Amino acid sequence: MAIEKISPSTNGGTHVAPLDASKLVVNLAKTLKPLVPSEDLIFGETKTDHMLVVSYEPATGWSAPEIKPYGPLNLDPASSCFQYCPNVFEGMKAYLGPNGEPRLFRPDKNMERLSRSVERVALPPFDTSVLLELIKRLVMVEARWIPSEPGHSLYIRPTVIGTRAALGVAASDSAIIYVIVTPAGPYFRGSVKGIPLLAVGESVRSWPGGTGGHKLGLNYAPGFLPQRIAAKQGYSQILWLLGDDAKITEAGAMNFFAVARRDDGDLDIVTPPLDGTILPGLTRASCLALLDGHTQGRLTLPGIALTQRLYTHERTLTMSEIAAWSADGKLLEAFGVGTAVIVAPVGRIGWEGKDLVLPSEETGLGPVGKALWERIVDIQVGKVEWEGWSVSCV
Ligand SMILES: *Cc1c(COP(=O)(O)O)cnc(C)c1O
Repeated sequence: MAIEKISPSTNGGTHVAPLDASKLVVNLAKTLKPLVPSEDLIFGETKTDHMLVVSYEPATGWSAPEIKPYGPLNLDPASSCFQYCPNVFEGMKAYLGPNGEPRLFRPDKNMERLSRSVERVALPPFDTSVLLELIKRLVMVEARWIPSEPGHSLYIRPTVIGTRAALGVAASDSAIIYVIVTPAGPYFRGSVKGIPLLAVGESVRSWPGGTGGHKLGLNYAPGFLPQRIAAKQGYSQILWLLGDDAKITEAGAMNFFAVARRDDGDLDIVTPPLDGTILPGLTRASCLALLDGHTQGRLTLPGIALTQRLYTHERTLTMSEIAAWSADGKLLEAFGVGTAVIVAPVGRIGWEGKDLVLPSEETGLGPVGKALWERIVDIQVGKVEWEGWSVSCV
């Protein structure tokens, strides 16, 4: 006998409305806000004119999605999202293409990850390809907010929250999806130099069997206190370690890469494996694919010799290994990657009372980091076409 899967449109046999882009209602703001000059943008602070909102109730299903003026949500104080944190989000960006058309970067990957996050905290499921249609509509409505300067973009924050208005500790059977957008300049403005990281193992960001591999809101608040302590010591982010052998997991909310020179002159590029403690970043996956593409001769990374072999490894990487490479002069680069920063150079790593200094301390991104940054940006803005990664909203 086939096991019936619970689909978004069934609820114990009762038919409820699925998420439906054709029901979209657009209520435009009467007056539009003035645009903020690009040089004044602070990440995530500027709110645009509109947002997308749609809600789910177990009796009726998904409401008609609405694009409406940006503003507060009206929620019952007992709502699950305020108590038990069944809250998930995504981070993606829209860029202007060669003909001024808004483009997204591998948005299907964000939607797949969102779907997994929603499932992990038992929120009502929905067809994320429909949400992607709605996000494209919102981006088109807000297109005037996409800054055109290189390295700038419109950051998109799809969010799903549980809105069950009762204190019983249980999965939220109602939910709201909302999407807000905010114009963004380069994440680390003005600092081309490497960032200082403090390696921390006493508090951990994730653990085996935990939720670090999902983009859940509840993963982030516990990192704020250690982050503040690191900042007081002059480090801008934490390098999160795990276990007695000081395994490197992530840097702040970025995936981590280290580049080491081999005796034969080839390069080893190592990033920790997706074992459930690492957030499966799109930028991480894109970097690995581009590096492999270079070594296989399917593409050339700018500034890297065709003959330079770049061997990628998704494997455990410990602090002692990094320290040994550094002592032997083999550690060429380390960088953090993510949608917000794309590629951010690591300048030094504080560990066991000492600072391990990298070449990027003074020079910023090394050749590999710089090549990845440039190639990813070229693909994002549609200058270089690569495997359909850049998707037009038009
Ligand atoms: C979002 C995020 C990343 C980066 O993922 P991208 O898909 O590349 O933006 C890495 N680590 C953490 C903890 C994150 O939340």
